[in-house]
Amino acid sequence: MATPSKKTSASKSGSSAQNGSSNKGKSKTQKTERSSPKGQDEQGLRKLLVDQMKDMLWAEKKLTTAIPKMIKKASSEELIESLTNHLEETKEQVSRLEQAFQAMNLKATAKECEAMKGLVKEAEELMEEMEEGSLRDAAIICAAQKVEHYEIATYGCLVTYSQILGETEVAELLNETLSEEKGADETLTEVSQNINWMAEEEAEEEDAE
Ligand code: FE
Ligand code: ZN
Ligand code: FE
Ligand code: FE
Repeated sequence: MATPSKKTSASKSGSSAQNGSSNKGKSKTQKTERSSPKGQDEQGLRKLLVDQMKDMLWAEKKLTTAIPKMIKKASSEELIESLTNHLEETKEQVSRLEQAFQAMNLKATAKECEAMKGLVKEAEELMEEMEEGSLRDAAIICAAQKVEHYEIATYGCLVTYSQILGETEVAELLNETLSEEKGADETLTEVSQNINWMAEEEAEEEDAE
């Protein structure tokens, strides 16, 4: 089965004769001629890929300032260590995204990610409200895992899109990042084992007083 890599031909000819009707009759009139598949006017899955890369570039940059705040509020050595480790990975992920833009001959631009903005805002509000200790650590882990899951979802899509589009280098770069995000999530789960129980014990001690 052929991959649909030549769909630009449909718009040029103005007829779908060449490919049968694989493009199931777009009723809208074509606004612009497609200059080239590598041009700035991205379309289709390629546009989705690029838009989501911009979103993630913003998100990762945001995290390079958000994670240090979480580290400051954390008490557990294990948690501090895993967050510090992931902060370093996150900085690397920013430059990996920049490399991915470069691989596509595009300027690396960031576009505000509403979701990450919200996740970070929730984390910060939560940390402000809570006293230092295991319960706050548990809350930090929960907030951090929400972030990792968001990233895993997005990078999972991006790796798939870039594979379909034949952007091998982009796929490799972002797959490496995807592995780090999954690793970070797993580490947080491990770290949480003790902390969640300590949070519960702390609460019991307070009740006993
Ligand atoms: Fe990340
Ligand atoms: Zn987003
Ligand atoms: Fe949601
Ligand atoms: Fe991450």
